[in-house]
Amino acid sequence: MIGNPGARRRTLLAAAVGLAAAPFAASPAFAAVPKVYLDPGHGGTDAGAVANGLQEKTLTLNIALQTRDILKASWNVDVRMSRTTDITRSLAYRTDDANAWGATIFVSIHINAGGGTGFESYRYPGVGATTQRLQSTVHSNVLAQMRTISAITDRGLKSADLHVLRESAMPAVLTENLFIDTVANANLLKRADFITATARGHAQGIAAFLGL
Ligand SMILES: [Zn+2]
Repeated sequence: MIGNPGARRRTLLAAAVGLAAAPFAASPAFAAVPKVYLDPGHGGTDAGAVANGLQEKTLTLNIALQTRDILKASWNVDVRMSRTTDITRSLAYRTDDANAWGATIFVSIHINAGGGTGFESYRYPGVGATTQRLQSTVHSNVLAQMRTISAITDRGLKSADLHVLRESAMPAVLTENLFIDTVANANLLKRADFITATARGHAQGIAAFLGL
């Protein structure tokens, strides 16, 4: 945004080292310290999908906590989560909380079920270019990091009328990170290195979207 401290710092720095300030002037598309809202799906009395000895709520929390930690260790971002422990949160709570906080982006993390394999992501139908770019950037980064561990099917960039995508007042994306009820996918979800790669993909995708 115009006049944010980051833009001014960069302009002053450019002047100090004798560079033209103009190339820097248009660069910051977001606030100096973007506010990333991470939403681990389910929790508490809502386990989400359960299969192969795994619970969706536990996997989504692990991925989100690691995503937060990677983001905060690597870039200057504020991160808020809809939950950091195994507690029940309504869908309305999640979007109300993100909206009240004034999040820059909303990222909801889920595990798929119903028979299938691979990774897919969702945006709200009919959203504009910014949200489409958030989805595509997170999607490609998550997939790339997952593929450092194993071959992963790309199920594509999809849209759906989901509460957290519809009621969030900022660009929002929801990821479905493999199928808990498919044995080969579940075996990956049981691996610590796969969970960390998935978190790294989310963090890198978020950072790339925000231009960090
Ligand atoms: Zn879910």
